[in-house]
Amino acid sequence: MDNSTMKAVAVVPKKRELRVVEHPLPQISSENQIRVQTLDVGVCGTDREICTFVYGEPPKGDEHLVLGHESLGRVVEVGSAVTRFKVGDLVVPSVRRPCSDSNCKPCSNGKQDYCINGEFTERGIKQVHGFMTEFYVDDEKFFTYVPEELRDLAVMAEPLTIAEKGLAQAYAVQKRLPWANTVSGEPRGKGLRAVVLGAGPIGILGAMKCVIEGFDTYVYSRSKSPNPKSDLVEQIGAKYYSKYDISPQELASEVGNIDLIYEAVGGSEFAFDVLQVLGTNGVFVFTGIPAPETRLEIDSDILMRRIVLENLAIVGTVNADRQAFEDAISDLAEFNKRWPETIRNVITGRYGIEDHEELLIGKSKGIKNVISFS
Ligand code: BGC
Repeated sequence: MDNSTMKAVAVVPKKRELRVVEHPLPQISSENQIRVQTLDVGVCGTDREICTFVYGEPPKGDEHLVLGHESLGRVVEVGSAVTRFKVGDLVVPSVRRPCSDSNCKPCSNGKQDYCINGEFTERGIKQVHGFMTEFYVDDEKFFTYVPEELRDLAVMAEPLTIAEKGLAQAYAVQKRLPWANTVSGEPRGKGLRAVVLGAGPIGILGAMKCVIEGFDTYVYSRSKSPNPKSDLVEQIGAKYYSKYDISPQELASEVGNIDLIYEAVGGSEFAFDVLQVLGTNGVFVFTGIPAPETRLEIDSDILMRRIVLENLAIVGTVNADRQAFEDAISDLAEFNKRWPETIRNVITGRYGIEDHEELLIGKSKGIKNVISFS
């Protein structure tokens, strides 16, 4: 390696390869940019899917795509017009970048998570290189400040933004029930019941968010308990049920009226099974992006009747805006206060770049695996 390149974990889709490449060291090219040194990068289901070559796209003109969209880094250089950060600050970057169509109102208003024409790009996923490398550069508006006390946790900010945006949407829908979550001075979920589907990182962080929001929280997952994930769930005061022990109908009679279902399993079969027991006036939030494989037979008339007769709302949510990142950072601080050990145990291990193959194409293991760069 010469000193104008750095090591990066990348896929070369045309050759169906995953490897470490020498990638140009990025330099600041406009006054609003910051240069960041990578500390931690989380490995997630989307990265693993990109490694099966059914998803993900290199930048136009490049053969490879540098992976990684869950990152924590430290600012090492700031452009002359940067106002929000200084050298030494810890930061997390967002993932999606706006399209260039001035008629796209979401992208023109910093809400590219709602881009209407699909021309957005995503770092490490769609047409822009990601963060699984030593340095990256981007406009300061795409970063959120991280307090030093969250140095070992903030790599989980991005996966937590999924819950932040998902719950914000559920609350937006539930404004139709002004009596449902307005116990004065109490958190918004007080008196309500949430079921989280799945106990991977998105599910566990989502369950933590539901607990601090005051919901009676239940995690319904595949693995039989006890297991390390069910232990974490119990430690935060939520209840864990395995789908091999109780059916969705039994779960619903255990829980009572299910006001919120937060889906974090990424598979339609499990999700649609549980959608059928969403409670009256409930909201179901889909977050998973399954590979298009499963075709289901469902009692569609019965489901449609329930959706109408019981005011059910079904919301899909993807990506996250700056507000969701800020909320994720303040909620990580809250998790750290309430469950300092449990939140740390969501990270199964920190590995070096040389372990990328095992983490990205090996057997999926643990909860959140992280590649550390320093
Ligand atoms: C990322 C999102 C992204 C989505 C779709 C997820 O894994 O967290 O930021 O929008 O994949 O590409």
